[in-house]
Amino acid sequence: MPKHVKELAVQGKQVFVRTDYNVPLDAEGNVTDDFRIRASLPTIEYLLDQGASVILASHLGRPKGAVIPEMSLAPIASRLAELVQAEVLFAPDSVGSEVETLAENLKPGQILVLENLRFHAAETQNDPEFSKKLATLADVFVNDAFGTAHRAHASNVGIVSHFEEKAAGFLLMKEIEFLVKTIESPARPFTVVMGGSKVSGKIDLLKRLADVADNILIGGGMAFTFLSAPPLNHNVGSSLVEEDRIQFASDVIDLCLAKGVNLVLPSDCIASREIKEDAQGQELPIRALEDDLMGLDIGHRTRKSFNSILDESKTVLWNGPMGVFEMTPFQEGTKAIAEKLCEITKKGTTTIVGGGDSAAALKKFKLDGCVTHTSTGGGASLELLSGIKLPAFEALKGAK
Ligand code: ADP
Ligand code: MG
Repeated sequence: MPKHVKELAVQGKQVFVRTDYNVPLDAEGNVTDDFRIRASLPTIEYLLDQGASVILASHLGRPKGAVIPEMSLAPIASRLAELVQAEVLFAPDSVGSEVETLAENLKPGQILVLENLRFHAAETQNDPEFSKKLATLADVFVNDAFGTAHRAHASNVGIVSHFEEKAAGFLLMKEIEFLVKTIESPARPFTVVMGGSKVSGKIDLLKRLADVADNILIGGGMAFTFLSAPPLNHNVGSSLVEEDRIQFASDVIDLCLAKGVNLVLPSDCIASREIKEDAQGQELPIRALEDDLMGLDIGHRTRKSFNSILDESKTVLWNGPMGVFEMTPFQEGTKAIAEKLCEITKKGTTTIVGGGDSAAALKKFKLDGCVTHTSTGGGASLELLSGIKLPAFEALKGAK
């Protein structure tokens, strides 16, 4: 493991903190959800308490190397200033002499927020010159951005080799500890609930989980690729099926059989001819799906069987909604699973939610905060859970 920020001596130092402030903004540029800003506070407040000055760097959106005023970090700096008891300054760029002067003059207890890193294409190119310029701003490096940890960029990988003193922040460390521990030594039974639209994108994850889980419950659109795969060969009407992943689904079914993993697929669904907010969903067994019907949520029988397995579980990992939860007629399956997760968390089960849309679903049902851990990184959580090493985390372990 790399060092934790608590292990660094930072008094009187300028500390460069890579944060994840890729937050949603409305048309007027106001922050509509400050979850990620709040999540960054433990590291920032710790550093300020220790007498450091803090330089915060993040990307926002995909400006692709152009200066796009709508993607400025200025509104984030303003929001941060409301949340933290410290003076927050804003730099008009992330590198250059003006920024260097601002960083040099920063006093202990003050915060300097840099402008969007991705206004420079050099950031995502992990450009060595750009990394070096960023590194000149500070004495110590802390990475607390989990959302980009699966990418090797200038501000989270290239920059690191310029520092003697470097560490992971509270947020990054918590994510790694939760996700790695869950996969490597879960309290059993360990149940995985998988959903979402597609099998593709979750191939490595499914393979790994088939190796470590006791139960795998599959809902969402991806269930239909499994249901239509041999040896099941169900007719699933017009439901989402990825023809080119059917073989893979069969392999996962075989793997689960061989390993004694209890793989459970939906037996019924909420079906409709159209995906729209005022659609009339009908509850049907999978085998009753006619050609023009799509399965868009799990039905009551499936919810019941999933829930009874969840009741017996000691660790649960949930990734991917059970249906098109964005629309009222198809939200109930996802809601039922989310409610069950909250219920078993209270009884002592460790519940981990990963994936952007799954976290959004929890929020929609006002159930965020009731599970043990909601991962803030979409792609990064999936890669870490799949056993792939995260470049930004690995970089923190290296020598100068
Ligand atoms: P996550 O971001 O949590 O990893 P995904 O991105 O894999 O989840 O999938 C989320 C999307 O899957 C949602 O937008 C949801 O509408 C869609 N989805 C869920 N079930 C179905 C279904 N049965 N048919 C089509 N799309 C579905
Ligand atoms: Mg998603």
